[in-house]
Parts: sequence; C-alpha cells; structure tokens
Amino acid sequence: MSMDIFELFSGAKSPAAILEYLDGSAYDGLSEVDLRSDRLHVLFRSEGKYAGPVQDSAYSEFRSYAGNRFVHPEDRNVYFSLTEPETLERRFAESKYPGILSAQYRLLIRGGGYRWVEQTLVYGEQFGLKPGIMRDYHFDIQLQKNRRLGLALSSEGKRKRDEVTGLLVGDSFFPAAQAMLSIPTDKGRWSLLFISIEHLKLFREWFGKETANELLSRLGAVLRQEASETSGLAGHLWDDDFLLLTPYDMERTKALYEKLHDEIKVYGIPVGFLPVIGVSVEREGGTVLSMADRAGVAAASLRGNFRVRIGQYRPEMGDRTREEYRILSEVQQAMQNREFSFVLQPQCRMVTGKIVGAEALIRWRKADGTMVPPGDFIPVLERYGFISELDKLIWRRVCSWLRSWVRKGHEPVPISVNISQADILTFDVPEYLDSLIRHFELPRDSLKLEITESAYVSEMETVRNAVHRFRELGFRVLMDDFGSGYSSLNMLNSLGVDVVKLDAHFLHLEEGDERGRQILEAVIDMTRRLSLPIIVEGVETEEHVRFLRSLGCRYVQGYYFYKPMPVSEFEALIGDEENVDREGIVYGGVRLFHIREFLERSIYNDVMLNNIIGAVAFYAWDGEGRVDIIRYNEVFRDVVADPDFDNRLTDILNYLHPDDRAFFLRLMKTAYGDSMGGASGVIRVYRATGELGRFLLRLYYLEEQAVGKVFYGSLHELRDDLPSAGEGKALPPEGEPHP
Ligand code: C2E
Ligand code: MG
Ligand code: MG
Repeated sequence: MSMDIFELFSGAKSPAAILEYLDGSAYDGLSEVDLRSDRLHVLFRSEGKYAGPVQDSAYSEFRSYAGNRFVHPEDRNVYFSLTEPETLERRFAESKYPGILSAQYRLLIRGGGYRWVEQTLVYGEQFGLKPGIMRDYHFDIQLQKNRRLGLALSSEGKRKRDEVTGLLVGDSFFPAAQAMLSIPTDKGRWSLLFISIEHLKLFREWFGKETANELLSRLGAVLRQEASETSGLAGHLWDDDFLLLTPYDMERTKALYEKLHDEIKVYGIPVGFLPVIGVSVEREGGTVLSMADRAGVAAASLRGNFRVRIGQYRPEMGDRTREEYRILSEVQQAMQNREFSFVLQPQCRMVTGKIVGAEALIRWRKADGTMVPPGDFIPVLERYGFISELDKLIWRRVCSWLRSWVRKGHEPVPISVNISQADILTFDVPEYLDSLIRHFELPRDSLKLEITESAYVSEMETVRNAVHRFRELGFRVLMDDFGSGYSSLNMLNSLGVDVVKLDAHFLHLEEGDERGRQILEAVIDMTRRLSLPIIVEGVETEEHVRFLRSLGCRYVQGYYFYKPMPVSEFEALIGDEENVDREGIVYGGVRLFHIREFLERSIYNDVMLNNIIGAVAFYAWDGEGRVDIIRYNEVFRDVVADPDFDNRLTDILNYLHPDDRAFFLRLMKTAYGDSMGGASGVIRVYRATGELGRFLLRLYYLEEQAVGKVFYGSLHELRDDLPSAGEGKALPPEGEPHP
C-alpha cells in the first residue's frame, strides 16, 4: 500500500482539509458506496479513458467484475484486499489516517495497455459522510510513476519540462493550465487541443530514436510558438501526445495542423505519420483534465481516418462508448448461448483454382437469426482486451472439427485461424495452441496462424517473439492484411513470417488509380525477392485474376473462387480430391532458389536483373544433347503449370516439339559464346495433355559446374494470338521479350 497520498496530507491534517484537498484534485473517478445496501453510485467518471463500464450497480458484483477484468492480473490481490467489504470498517479504524485507505494498481485503459492509478477510500463522520457511506476516489498516477515522483500531485512541485520538446510535462501542465482557465481571455472561450502524431512508434523504428527526438523537438517548437502567440500553454503529455490550451479558434487550429505537418514532411514520407487534433471547448466549472479527456476521445475517433484530421468533441462520441459497452455485454451472453460459429473460405492456387487451405472466419448469429458482421464486434472486443475467450473458442472448434475430419479417414487441409494482437499481449498463445494441437492429436501443419500486420507495428518486440516461438513449435505464420498499414521491407525480412497475405484494398482501388497498382506490383516483387509466398485477398473478378496473373501472383483468396461457406459445404468440396491441391503452399522448397543468394554472386549483371522478375530456372547442359533443370523459382513452376512438372525437369529435350530440339541446343551454344548478351528464342513444349505451349526463353551462360554448363533462363508464356507460331526462331538478344 502506498504512502504517497498520506505524505501529501502532512500539511493538511484536519479531516475537512483532507477532503477539501481530495475534492479539489484532478481525479478521474468519484463514486459513493453504500456499504449497508451494497449500492454503488457513480458521481463522476472521466470518459473514454479507462476500459470497462462503471455505472450504478450492486457494489459486490461491480467489485468482482471490475477487479477480474480491468485490474492488471498481478495487481488483483492489491485491489481486492483494499476493497474487501468484510474488513473495511476495521481497516478504516486502524489506518494511520483513520477513515482513509489507499492503494495503487494498474488499470486497463481503452485501446489496450494499463495505467497506474491510485484509489483512495474515505469513510466516517469526521469527513461529513453519512453512516455506511464510503467515498471512492480514483486518480491517474502514471506520470508520477513514470518519473518516480511521489509528490508530483503537489501543486508546489516545480514546473517540469520535457527534455526533448522543452514543453511542460503533464503533471506540471495540468495545474498551470487549470490556473489559466480561471483567467478569462479577451479572445473568447478557452479550448484544449489534444495533438497526437499517428504511428510515432513506427517512425522511431524506421528513422531511429535520434531522428524521432529531433522531430519531437521541432513539433515542440511549433507548439511553443503557437502558445506564445495566443497567450496559451503547451504541454507534452507522453510519447506522441501533446496538449495545447488556447483560445477557441478553428481557423487557427487548421493552420497549426499545417505547420505541424510541414515539420513531418521534411522527412519525405508521403503518408502515415500525420498529426491528428482533437478539440474540446471550456465548459462551466470544467477542469482541464476533463477537457483533455474529451479532446483525447475526439482525437481517438479520428485515428486511421486519412481525410479528416481535426475534430471537435461531440457528446455522441460518448454514445459510441455506450454502444461498445452494449456489445461487450451482449457478447458475454452470446457465448453462453452458443451463438458463435465459424465458416471456412478456401485459399487457392491461382492458375488451377485448386484448394491449398482455408481460413476460419467467425460468425455471430443472434437468437433472432440476425447476423452480426465480425467488423462490428471484433474491433470492440480487441480494444477492450476481451477477444481472447472468443478466439480460443474458435480455435478449439476448428481443431475439434479437424480431428473429426481426420477420424473419418480424410487427410486434413491446413486451416488458418486469426490471432489478435490482444491475444498475444494477454496470454501465452504459443503454449495454448501447442496444447490444443496435442489434445486433438493433430499435425502441426494443419493449423496456420494469421496475425494482422498492425500487430507487428504497434507491439514489435512481443509479437516478434511470439512469431519466433510459433515457428519453433512448427506452426506456419501468415502476416494478415499486409499493406493496410505501414510495414516496411525490413520488417518483413526480420519477422520471419512464412506467408504474406496482401490486403484486398489494392485490388479495389478506383479505375485508373495507378498508384495502388504500382504498390501492388512493388509488394509482390518485394516478397518474391524474399522468397515469401503471398496470398492476395479479395479477388472478386475475372479482371483481378488476369491482372494478378500478369504479376506472377500465386495464391488467392476471394469471392471469385469461393465465398466463406459452412463447414459441411467445405467438407463436401474437399471430399473430392479433384478440388484439392495436395502440394499446398510451397514455402521455399529445396530446389527453390533465393534470389538474394543469387544476387550476391559476382556473375550477376544488369541485363539479368531486368529479367529476374518472372519465371526463372537454372539449366545444366552436358555440352551434347541433354539439358536438365537444376533449380527453379515458384513463378516458373506456375507458368509451366504442368501436372507432370516434376518428371519433366530432367532431359527436357524430350518434351520439346521435334523441330525445336536442335534449335534449343543452338540457343545454348549461342548463349555459351556470348556470356553478356545471351540468347533468346521461342520454343514449343508439349504439355502433359498433349497440347503445345509456346514460350519465349532467354538464356545466359553462367559457369561450368560438375553437373555441366550452367545457364540462367527466364521464361515467358506466349498466348496463341501472338505471331511466330511456326518453327523456333532466334530473336536479337535485346529484343522485347513479349508484348
Ligand atoms: P481477414 O482475416 O482479413 O479475413 C478476410 C475477410 O475478407 C473476411 O471477412 C472475408 O469474408 C472477406 N473476403 C474474402 N474474400 C473476399 C472478397 O473477394 N471480397 C471482399 N470484399 N471480401 C472478401 P469477414 O469474415 O467479415 O472478417 C473480417 C475480419 O474479422 C477478418 O479479416 C479478421 O480480421 C476478423 N476475424 C474474423 N474471424 C475472426 C476470429 O475468429 N478471430 C479474430 N481475432 N478475428 C477474426
Ligand atoms: Mg485473416
Ligand atoms: Mg486479411
């Protein structure tokens, strides 16, 4: 139990003075509890800050509900011993300050994470309280904890400035701003701006701490300037959040936004790290803290909204909170009523449309038959940290279904389940899944784990560790919704995920939006260089398919192929082996080469670099009449798309049109003689079906090895409507590979 609060009383010994002190402080919550009738009555609560509903209710129920859900697990016994009703009266009597008890613990805040709070209970007639009535105050002490300043609440405390930004830190800002509020301005009402820089954490990751500090200090200078011009006051709350007390003036606020944005633009990043500004206006008798809370709620409501970046607090923003509480309590009930289930959406190899796996997606059907879309409740549950029970339920159901499928004598198809960042932060997911897999006696590769990209961004270290452990345990990890946020190439490389799932919105950009397409191309290219398989989501039309094919994309998930379907329908589908691609997703097999290792070799040249994107293989020629393929990349495999693929890797002349065999060997010879220019030509290859396929082959000689003369070759399939269908003919080396 803390001594801090008692130390504060050392100058204010009379009960009345203590109560006056408490009532005059900036508390976040104040309630009265009638211990005799077990009723909680809420007098004040700062909105939008802490997770969990606090409302008038039976106190004993509230206590166990709040204690078990919102208090940090390690601090629960502190909370429960402080509020233990049986012994309260005795402990009040025995306290050093009779009638006062206090304790500190961590409390869950909205959006995840905890803040240190101090709860102070006051009881007794000496405080003017009626018999049986206990007052319950609740303070935010995170800043004090941060700075290990026990006396920070004291108004005499020296004004402290943040070292980086030069602005007042929160616990100095609030009392000073409160004092300013009481001075009327000649410029009208006061407003408080809550200014936040989105994804600053990521900025730090990208540019390093020094550059991030430099940015903070520039932003600090802009805010200091603004404060001095408007006779206002600027503060640095923590990390990427700033406060500015200034006369209400929306035009000025817009100009301020631009100034802040200009400081960020200096670093040459187009989007991502934008400022967001929430505004709240002074109210009769309101405190700066409550203004800051409301401005913070307004700012939070704009996060991720790239069009609107400045917003004024409106009471409906509080309604959203109430709506969220309603969802939270309904979900509890719905779990008991077994209203949740999952559907399966196949993931396919694009060229064949065959099933390589499926994703389990949650469905909520209410008792009255209405369906609630996941987007309406998953984010709410995540924000409040309640998603875990539901996720565990779905994972268990998926495993149990897989078990029953295997028991019926079928081979399982790997199923993806979704994992929330909140899961990883709240319990040991690797351990849990490991025990599930054991319990249901399933092979490790029957479960794939989808973790959304944003998780990697905001809790980099924790998520990275979890990914590492999943993979050690033998699970495949997919990065979901890649490209919806701000992942970098570096991140992809260091995270060690097995598959990237590309967010659907790239496909759904408006006609003529070239940027989206370019991003898509770049991302596919980038993952290819890292030898990462990629699944494109949201493939809806023939046109999407054509476009993705031209980019060499291999795996897809989307309505064009299959919509999410009930388990029974999925069973019927995969019951027919014709529909299933048993090879599944190729994660980088032995014969797949890493372009990176290829890049590091000195034989590499620019001509090859230009050709490296696409279907590529290494050929070994014995100098006579035999050519084998010794390594190939995935695109190559898909371009060839031949069911008899593996058999055709050796002695490939056998599969060429007879008229092209000699020509093929001539190409080899030409390339051997011209190691810079190489050679290219059109060759006709028999498919397993007996049809002829036509390919443009571009060859470069690399080096002599034990297997023979090694060539690098890129391959492009030619469609039938193209000319030069006759005999093979050589093209000039620098000729356009294909239209
Ligand atoms: P997600 O993991 O990215 O799942 C893909 C979503 O895209 C699914 O939406 C799917 O129905 C939808 N989709 C698939 N193909 C197409 C298409 O061609 N066009 C369009 N427009 N949409 C397509 P759904 O089922 O509504 O789920 C939404 C999100 O909710 C999921 O996105 C996932 O993040 C989350 N979610 C779903 N089930 C669970 C779960 O069990 N646990 C957790 N934590 N999250 C889940
Ligand atoms: Mg997913
Ligand atoms: Mg997704």
